[in-house]
Order: sequence, then structure tokens, then C-alpha cells
Amino acid sequence: MAARIIDGKAEAARLRAAVRDEAAAFTTRHGLAPGLRVIIVGDDPASRAYVRTKTRMAAEAGIAGELIELPETSTTVELLSRIERLNDDPATHGILVQLPLPAHMDAEAVLRAIDPGKDVDGFHPLNVGRLFSAGRSLPEDLLVPCTPWGCLHLLRTTLGSDGLAGCHAVVIGRSNIVGKPMAALLLGADCTVTVAHSRTRDLPELCRRADILVAAIGRAEMVRGDWIKPGAVVIDVGINRVATGDGGSRLVGDVAFAEAIRVADAITPVPGGVGPVTVACLLRNTLIAAQASTRRTGSP
Ligand code: NDP
Repeated sequence: MAARIIDGKAEAARLRAAVRDEAAAFTTRHGLAPGLRVIIVGDDPASRAYVRTKTRMAAEAGIAGELIELPETSTTVELLSRIERLNDDPATHGILVQLPLPAHMDAEAVLRAIDPGKDVDGFHPLNVGRLFSAGRSLPEDLLVPCTPWGCLHLLRTTLGSDGLAGCHAVVIGRSNIVGKPMAALLLGADCTVTVAHSRTRDLPELCRRADILVAAIGRAEMVRGDWIKPGAVVIDVGINRVATGDGGSRLVGDVAFAEAIRVADAITPVPGGVGPVTVACLLRNTLIAAQASTRRTGSP
């Protein structure tokens, strides 16, 4: 029987609707909408399209989203001073700097400069530390990296909230953006977690022992059907553009989807799986940041 397809688009729409309701309540209560500022440096067309989607979705959810476009030639100092001003601006609850930054910029210094309470990407070392030291339940004001949070959310909707406990989860990829925070979240959900990377020995064999397989590699269709344990749940984070025969291109994940659906119990498609939930989580984080800021300042 073919695997269940995990519908990330539908789940993201549900998450955005919940954010919209809470954002409206926040705005009524505080006379100010939750505010998100997205900074992009340079003119990479794919990144620009992606940040425009983020601000459009924010507006649809009742979040005041503003796109700040800086030229490729901007310096780290210029970007840091922009961030400082946003840190001090009470109408800005969330700040996101679209990565990757141009090579001449100090990305680490930039991420460290964002007020941890406004760090809606969850990449500030303080938020990373809080995530890794959290137990089974995450603090309600914690800003968690959006992609792994989205993956966990899809796993919970697929397996039920208690369905992850005791599962062997294999995460392929150890980036700070996806792999490592994913591993922390799965540990918090009582999975037994193995993190694999480019130096892992016999990756197919390791994957065949996974009840939950998360692929965050960036290599088109690398995970084959015979790497997957029958009945496993597969979360495909990868987004890879590959050429089609007719001179065009299409997006594929890190998992060979047509093979995997014959073996897995459930799988996310690419596109339409993890991606939409990632954007919904960004809106959710902005709301969390806004709510936490009013608690800090003691506003009603
Ligand atoms: P990185 O390039 O930062 O990390 C890739 C990881 O994959 C590394 O840990 C690397 O290992 C590992 N890897 C590479 N080749 C192999 C291999 N042959 N065998 C085993 N492991 C390997 O990528 P990201 O984590 O940023 O992103 C991963 C993918 O997810 C990309 O396709 C990206 O586009 C996508 N993505 C999707 C998002 C979404 O919203 N859906 C959001 C973010 C990313 P090592 O550390 O040893 O180099």
C-alpha cells in the first residue's frame, strides 16, 4: 500500500489560521499588531521571492510585516546598526535576517546582535542553549528554529503526540539550522536519536533502522527506497532544483519520493511538505515574541 502523504500545505493553513486569531486578539488588546521585520541583503532572486512570501503570509495573518532590502555592497557594520535600531523599536517584535548573507559579511556577529527576544529564527546562541537545555516541554516563550519545529509538528500530527516516544529517529544532516535543533527537539519528544552526516559509515544500513527518518542533506533524491524501514515516517527537508529533459527544472527533495512511498507509512512531499509549515512557524514565533514582550514590559 502506498504511504500516506503528509499534507504540509493544509497543516500550514491551520497553523496560520490559529496565528491570525491570536494576532487579532493581540492587536485589539495592545492597539498594535505583532511586527515582523525581514532583512535581506543582496539581490538573489530566489531569496527575494522567499522573503516576499514570508511578508505576504505575515500580512494575511494580521502581522505587520516589513521587508528591508539592503544592497549587496552593505557592510556588516551597516547591518548591525540597522539591527540595533530594530532591537530598540517597540513596534518590532520579530527580526529575521535572511541567510545566507554575502560572503564578505560576518554572519555570526549579525545573528548574535539580534535581541534574543526578537530572534524569530531561533539562531541566537541564547535561544540555541535554551533549546538544548530544555526538557520534555519547551518554555512557552522559547523561539525555536522554524524548519525543525515544523518537522516536529508534522510528526506529531502524523503519529499523535505520544507516538514519538521510544522511536528511533535518524536525522541526516547536522547543520545549526536544521539537523542539530531537530535532534534536540526529537530528544525532547523521547525519541532515541542518531545524527548522521557526510562522514557517517554505512548510512543506508543506519537509515534502515529508523522508525523516523529526517533527511536534511541538500542532495537530490539521495535517500533511496531500500534505505527506508517498512512502516517508517519520512520527513524530507531537502529542496533541490533539478533539470528536466525539456530544458526546464523542478524541485525534488533529498528522498527518492516514488520509491519511498512504496515502503514508508507516511512521507512529506517536496514541494508542499516541510516548506509551508516552516513559514507558518515564523509567524507563530513572531506572535510568541510579541506576547512575551508585553509580559516583559508589563503592558495589559
Ligand atoms: P547544510 O548544507 O548546512 O547541511 C547539510 C548536512 O548534510 C551536513 O551536515 C552534511 O554533513 C550532510 N551531508 C551532506 N552530504 C552528505 C552525504 N553524502 N551523506 C550524509 N550526510 C551528508 O544544509 P541545511 O541543513 O541548511 O539544509 C539541508 C537541506 O534542507 C537543503 O536542501 C536546504 O535547501 C533544505 N532546507 C529546507 C528548508 C525548508 O523550509 N523546507 C529550510 C532549510 C533548509 P557534514 O556536516 O559532514 O558536511
